[in-house]
Amino acid sequence: MLPSSYQSDTAPRPGLAAHADPRGTLAAMDTTSAPSSAPIHRPKRLPMAARPRGFYDLPLQDLEARFADLGAPAYRARQAWNWAYRSLVPSYDAMTNLPAALRRDLAERLPLTTLETVRDLSADNGETIKTLYRTVDGELVETVLMLYPDRATVCVSCQVGCAVGCAFCATGLGGLARNLTAGEIVAQVVGAARQAKERGRTLTNIVMMGMGEPFHNYDETMKFIGIVHDPDGLNLGARRITISTSGVVPKILQLATEPLQVNLAVSLHSPNDELRSRLMPINDRYPIADLMAAIRAYIEQTGRRVSFEYALMRGINDSDEIALQLADLLRGILCHVNIIPLNPVDVLPYERPDPAGIERFAATLERAGIPTTVRYSRGLEIDAACGQLRAKAERLREDQQAPR
Ligand code: SF4
Repeated sequence: MLPSSYQSDTAPRPGLAAHADPRGTLAAMDTTSAPSSAPIHRPKRLPMAARPRGFYDLPLQDLEARFADLGAPAYRARQAWNWAYRSLVPSYDAMTNLPAALRRDLAERLPLTTLETVRDLSADNGETIKTLYRTVDGELVETVLMLYPDRATVCVSCQVGCAVGCAFCATGLGGLARNLTAGEIVAQVVGAARQAKERGRTLTNIVMMGMGEPFHNYDETMKFIGIVHDPDGLNLGARRITISTSGVVPKILQLATEPLQVNLAVSLHSPNDELRSRLMPINDRYPIADLMAAIRAYIEQTGRRVSFEYALMRGINDSDEIALQLADLLRGILCHVNIIPLNPVDVLPYERPDPAGIERFAATLERAGIPTTVRYSRGLEIDAACGQLRAKAERLREDQQAPR
């Protein structure tokens, strides 16, 4: 049977979820105080070294050192840490057991967050909430919170845009603008934890399947994981965190050596090099044989199962022959395949197969002994595919800035 929604902590790969309506829906569904017709300004982009780092960029130990610089004892840093990650307060003002002078100092010298909410959109009876954030240098970043009966999962972005350029992906269309800092990724998680709390829920899982390739921003990704994993803070266990990659082989091998054993998902989308290179140019650099060798090494070292993401596209990668090739490729590997029926992007020529085709592809894999789940996307009416909401906001910004 095909599920009608996600059943695990695996969200759609960027660009694979819903494509929704033409521009205009954004305005109709805007649930924040900022009107969607308000101009979205882009300040000058700052080089990485010049970008302000905030509270969320600092692991507790570094925060204690920063507090010491401000003349405050370590226990004050731990109090602030508690407020930020346990109470999820949105400002230093709410940290009422910190001296007022320290709160003022912190607000001036260490911003709590470096992301500003542009708007929230909700769908699926309020169980999917997509948030568009703006960075201090005016870039737009997307995050999606998905509430399920047994868990609450946030899908975060790790880059503004993406350099990988997958053929079917809205995020890849515009290339890479820049990497996000660890603090900008943490801020997305804290925002989602707050949204979950407002709904009487607790954030339980993180998937790095939003905009960007986490392994192209490896150091900030690992720093981010360290911060959200801290048992005295958000306390999100490594096994509740999934990193999804397009297949950056050296970083798969590096991840295997990390002390925190997070989950690994690999976007495959084709079992043969010819087709995969057409869909994912990164395959020219890391072809399937190299990718599978790295995955086998990862499994051997960690003993952990790997997920393969497979965006099913009509007439492209959904034939019986390709299903059998995929089964052959994955036979004997400790893995699970997530089939994600494509949600088309309006400017790209890829379509979703019909339900019978989806079922047939999944059944072929299952018959061949490959554990398989079909996962449909959340948030169809809010451009939940990563990159779509940002692309729409960018178009709106261009429209607003165009000469009249
Ligand atoms: S790797 Fe980049 S281009 Fe490819 S699907 Fe992910 S975000 Fe899009």
